[in-house]
Amino acid sequence: MGESSPSYKAELVGVFGHPVAENPTIVMQEAGFAARSLHWRYLTIEVRPEQLADAMRGLRAMNFAGINLTIPHKVAVIQHLDGLSPEAELIGAVNTVVREGHQLIGHNTDGQGFLRSVREDAGVDPQGKRIVFLGAGGAARAMSVELALAGAAHVTVVNRTANRGRELVRLLNERTPAQAEFVPWQGAYIVPAETDILVNATPIGLFPAVEALPAVHMASIRPDLLVCDVIPNPPRTAFLRAAEQRGARTLDGLGMLVYQGAIAFQMWTGVEAPVEVMRRALEEVLGA
Ligand code: NDP
Repeated sequence: MGESSPSYKAELVGVFGHPVAENPTIVMQEAGFAARSLHWRYLTIEVRPEQLADAMRGLRAMNFAGINLTIPHKVAVIQHLDGLSPEAELIGAVNTVVREGHQLIGHNTDGQGFLRSVREDAGVDPQGKRIVFLGAGGAARAMSVELALAGAAHVTVVNRTANRGRELVRLLNERTPAQAEFVPWQGAYIVPAETDILVNATPIGLFPAVEALPAVHMASIRPDLLVCDVIPNPPRTAFLRAAEQRGARTLDGLGMLVYQGAIAFQMWTGVEAPVEVMRRALEEVLGA
């Protein structure tokens, strides 16, 4: 065949999750591929937990260029990989797998996506800042590790389940330069006056329970605070609206979602991600 012969074979990436049907990532990735004229496809694939091993073997057999993992596979996938990035190893969870030759390497772009959104969308450098995270789950782990590695001075983890919160604080104190402390989440949390950034890293306020608010003493939210929400749907959560009423600056979870996808796009394709195209595609489906 000559060099100009058409190829009908696309490069394949996608997401494994359960349930996964409502995951909107396909929309932004395919918009990105189209904008960069890349012959790539992003598939949204339902994989039950007991079938993850088979799914990962299938991924290798079909020579996928990579895959995203969402709930409940982010930790379980690690045993099926050939290696981890230093951050994914530290966080203990993988949301993006990249094929390198015959090897599948796990990365975590959630925290990096949040860091980029804090820097580029909010215009705030986390260096030297005091940050409070509400929640200690997978998202809080990824975000707090990246902000700690980026030079945050102090991290407070506020969590309902003490063991989970303490475990994250131990990780931050032992493996990052930041100082971290745990605060049990009992009643309405009072944000300490010296806090620079407050992050809701819980699913409280996520569609469809859109009016739910994390238990925070709103009078402790000051105008010089940056208040962030991890929830991308709806982007303008009840918590962010309440923080705005207190005069605080806010950062929604859409930017994090766009950037974690843009970082994965770039890792997979080697091409710079068209971030604004991807953001608009996502805003359209999320009604932002
Ligand atoms: P996890 O289940 O791993 O963690 C959930 C955390 O929220 C835990 O700390 C849990 O506390 C806490 N929590 C849940 N419900 C309550 C409640 N009613 N009261 C107090 N605390 C509560 O979830 P993830 O960390 O994976 O995800 C959290 C959110 O982040 C989700 O809404 C997800 O959509 C979003 N997300 C957004 C991303 C983005 O790009 N914008 C990327 C990844 C996630 P406890 O330990 O006590 O159970």
